[in-house]
Amino acid sequence: MTVLDSFRLDGKVAVVTGGNRGLGHTFARALSEAGARVVIAARDQARSERVAGELGAIAVATDVTDSASVSAMLESVTAELGPVDVLVNNAGVCFHGPALEVPDREWRAVWDVNVDGLWRCSRTVGAQMVERGAGVIVNIGSLSGIVVNRPQMQPAYNASKAAVHQLTRSLAAEWAPFGVRVNALAPGYVKTEMAPVDRPEFRRHWIEDAPMQRYALPEELGPSLVYLASDASSFMTGSVLVIDGGYTLW
Ligand code: NDP
Repeated sequence: MTVLDSFRLDGKVAVVTGGNRGLGHTFARALSEAGARVVIAARDQARSERVAGELGAIAVATDVTDSASVSAMLESVTAELGPVDVLVNNAGVCFHGPALEVPDREWRAVWDVNVDGLWRCSRTVGAQMVERGAGVIVNIGSLSGIVVNRPQMQPAYNASKAAVHQLTRSLAAEWAPFGVRVNALAPGYVKTEMAPVDRPEFRRHWIEDAPMQRYALPEELGPSLVYLASDASSFMTGSVLVIDGGYTLW
């Protein structure tokens, strides 16, 4: 096997939550190009079907905040493609606002998706992986789990991504004996609907503060995701891979 062969995912079944736009769309494309049979698992089924059509993937309507929906997704994927080899917990939401002004419903909404949703998908799919003695989970964390973003405050999101990083370590330790690897990818600023990286009011902190003096395009994260999802990272578990143009160096 050559070194590049270890990045191949031929025939593997890979589920990407929130795979219908932004980083998730890029991750789905990257996995598909590496040979995986990809499942787009998000709520907007029309959008998921468009992306699935483009990639030769399948779309299964999924709301990660709903246990029944996550179980139904796993059942349908297993029936159609077989058991899941790779789970990418990518679905995420963010609201901006100072701590004293964050409404309870926003705090809850962020935790429901970013932490509880990831926990729910990991346990549901993880149970199948543990039973088979094989599988890879990649959680999408963030630079926000490491530093506090400026100038906009987003306390719920920051806390949720720190929780993603620590839950990654916790599940990795617990499931390593069962042949299941769990790692996190922590991106810096990437141009998507969630991150308005080219707005002038953010330039000072988001761009000029970064050693590389720029944001990333989603495509720049695809190779790292394939690395974590494939045998290329076979001895890696419980790690948080930071890909942020050096942002967290300062
Ligand atoms: P987007 O807002 O562009 O996409 C979010 C995705 O999550 C959508 O596909 C959406 O699909 C899905 N989603 C939201 N809620 C749910 C839910 N309840 N169930 C299932 N899917 C859901 O965000 P990004 O692409 O920017 O972010 C992707 C991930 O990367 C997130 O975890 C984010 O925190 C992280 N990240 C992003 C960074 C950036 O700079 N962009 C930096 C660091 C981390 P639908 O609405 O159809 O359900």
